[in-house]
Amino acid sequence: MIEHEQALRPGAVQAWRDAIRQPTMRGPFLLVLLLTLLLLVFAALKPLGLMPRAAAIFPLWLHTLTELAAVLVALLVFVAAWTAQGRERSLNITLLGAGFLAVGLLDLAHLLSYKGMPEWLTPASPQKAIVFWLCARYLAAAVLLVVALKPDSALLGEAQRRWILLAFVGLGGSCVALGLAWPDVWPPFFIEGQGLTPVKIAAEYGLVLMLLAAAGLLVRQTVRARYSSADLAMAAVISVLSELCFTLYANVDDVYQLLGHAYKVIAYAFLFRAIFLFAVRQPYERLSQEIAERRQAERRLEFLAYHDPLTALPNRALLQDRVEQAIAEARRSGRAAAVLLLDLDQFKHINDSLGHGVGDELLRQVASRLAAVLRATDTVGRLGGDEFAILLRDVDGQAGVLRSLAGLQQTLAEPFFIGKDEVHVSASFGVALAPQHGSDLETLLGRADAAMYRAKASGRNTYRFFDLHMQDAVLHRMDLQSGLATALQRGELELHFQPQIELATGLMVGAEALLRWRRADGSLVPPALFIPVAEESGLIVPISAWVLHEACAQAAQWPAIAGLQPVVAVNLSALQFRQGSVEAVVQAALGSSGLAPQRLDLELTESILISDPASVLQTVSRLKALGLSLSLDDFGTGYSSLSYLTQFPVDKLKIDKSFLQGFGQTRSDTVIVEAIIALARSLGLKTIAEGVETAEVAQGLAELGCPLAQGYHFARPMPGAAMLAFATEHAAAATTGKAPA
Ligand code: C2E
Ligand code: MG
Ligand code: MG
Repeated sequence: MIEHEQALRPGAVQAWRDAIRQPTMRGPFLLVLLLTLLLLVFAALKPLGLMPRAAAIFPLWLHTLTELAAVLVALLVFVAAWTAQGRERSLNITLLGAGFLAVGLLDLAHLLSYKGMPEWLTPASPQKAIVFWLCARYLAAAVLLVVALKPDSALLGEAQRRWILLAFVGLGGSCVALGLAWPDVWPPFFIEGQGLTPVKIAAEYGLVLMLLAAAGLLVRQTVRARYSSADLAMAAVISVLSELCFTLYANVDDVYQLLGHAYKVIAYAFLFRAIFLFAVRQPYERLSQEIAERRQAERRLEFLAYHDPLTALPNRALLQDRVEQAIAEARRSGRAAAVLLLDLDQFKHINDSLGHGVGDELLRQVASRLAAVLRATDTVGRLGGDEFAILLRDVDGQAGVLRSLAGLQQTLAEPFFIGKDEVHVSASFGVALAPQHGSDLETLLGRADAAMYRAKASGRNTYRFFDLHMQDAVLHRMDLQSGLATALQRGELELHFQPQIELATGLMVGAEALLRWRRADGSLVPPALFIPVAEESGLIVPISAWVLHEACAQAAQWPAIAGLQPVVAVNLSALQFRQGSVEAVVQAALGSSGLAPQRLDLELTESILISDPASVLQTVSRLKALGLSLSLDDFGTGYSSLSYLTQFPVDKLKIDKSFLQGFGQTRSDTVIVEAIIALARSLGLKTIAEGVETAEVAQGLAELGCPLAQGYHFARPMPGAAMLAFATEHAAAATTGKAPA
């Protein structure tokens, strides 16, 4: 494990500039400036002879006191470094601890040997004191330099730390022994009566080298270290100033000695702060930080428990609480509260075509618009997806709700701008009133949902108020949904086939597979009832796959009738295209049944084509390439867009049965049927009329040149076997020239 260096910016000069421009460095720099100026003033006074030489301004007791302070700080630094825990036991902190212990030892020797101190092994003398002093200063400088130049330091084991400690104590002890036993092996540093020798002055200047350490410490500040690099740097700089004072003194008690020792005390104060205070404070600071982060996380969790993360709107839990309050209030005041359920129309289409990023942003913008038009006492929440719930408090029945609804519809009618997209949306609203329709959120939402379902069914972009009749429809829908979930496994689904007749010959050329659900009680549920439920729940996908397999499997077994192999027509649902499974399912059904693709006709509705034109076109083209044919079902009821007709490779238009009801009777239906047949012919497409109920209609269609027809006039949808019997009988009748039944 290493201490991580934080290079503030690349480039040493830039890094240095950045380091000294930190606001926390302002105070220390002012101090250094002040101390430098003071030193310069005192240095200038010396050659001018303004400093009284004999002034005993720095008494022995003061020296003893300042040096004791330095020894104490060194000891504390050692203690703080040595008790460092875990990943903080790095080489650097060990060097600082062991190094300053040795420095403290030498400073102790220095103070005991100071001129005027009682004899300690050998008599006190300035020479001896200077030897210890210089050893201490060079040792401190070396330690700081190593730490400054090597901020990435490895973690050490206990044994390694002990060896380092031993080495430093040994070094300090040897210097003390050398100073005591052989004070004369050192060059003379001080001559009584003359003052400092050039060697001593040069040695003090040599310590300017500590500025290098200071620069390194400032530039390469380490994060997560057990010491403050900036404070160590300050200690180094002020130590250099202190050494400069010691190049000036003539007597051990003169003003330069006082100044030098005062500076040393200041330098040691920074050292104390850099290691001891830092080590003491750091764990508490970390603790209060860890704690702050946890509080923040807790606050976030608390927020998420009651809000939707995407829109920051209240969620169901918070709504629940507000609804309870609103109902209690409504009971007291005798007025009402209302729960509105809002569902964006065609949101899925926006999400699919413009992407989820746009979808999310749209939801956020919708959320803020809704909130902006409501009163402060109302609440808008998001239930999920594109569903929002709105609680209106204290409303005077439907009239009050209508006023809010108008505002909500109006704000949603304005276009939304998302990036470069302009998006238009509308919404369907369902409204339930409290306490009239329910007195808890679940009931009210359920009822608002039933009303919203009605709003959607009546063409979207509108609202409906709940009434009790809707409840039956909801129960019915729920019953269908739960029954349908198991219908497939229980084999309750079956296919009926409705013959498709060639008008010119009267022969059955194909049959449309129509799904039936025979419930356990024997009742037959028509597809118009359960297919919408299957589509809503997604069950239509496995159901459609079953229909395709079953239709192909049965059709593959059909015998040729009057030399003709009938085509089987299968209805597809939009959801199969959205889930991308349609192509694989068709291929699997053809493959497993062995049915020739030419005998399969797929019926699409225009709503499938417009759901995602680009991707549906690709799928449809690939399906077409398999060799099967495509019909456009319910033609005339949807968009009947010419551009879709020319773009998509359909073979046949299937005229919707609603037009055949009035064909030959009402002008509008007759004109539409004629126009569709003419349009198809001009585009080279075939037509098939569905819902042909009378011979007159069949006759009329034949006269207009419509080649195919399907309807009760020929046959109702029926089980496969019955349909085959019909086909055989019918073929016989057709070939003998008898009019078919
Ligand atoms: P569709 O595809 O338009 O099917 C034609 C509907 O018209 C069938 O209703 C059929 O019974 C009915 N019909 C046929 N001839 C006449 C007639 O002469 N007069 C009248 N009034 N109606 C006639 P059905 O079987 O109830 O199916 C209704 C709809 O359910 C189908 O309309 C189709 O959209 C859907 N559907 C049926 N089976 C499936 C299926 O397997 N998958 C999917 N996705 N939809 C299906
Ligand atoms: Mg159909
Ligand atoms: Mg149809």
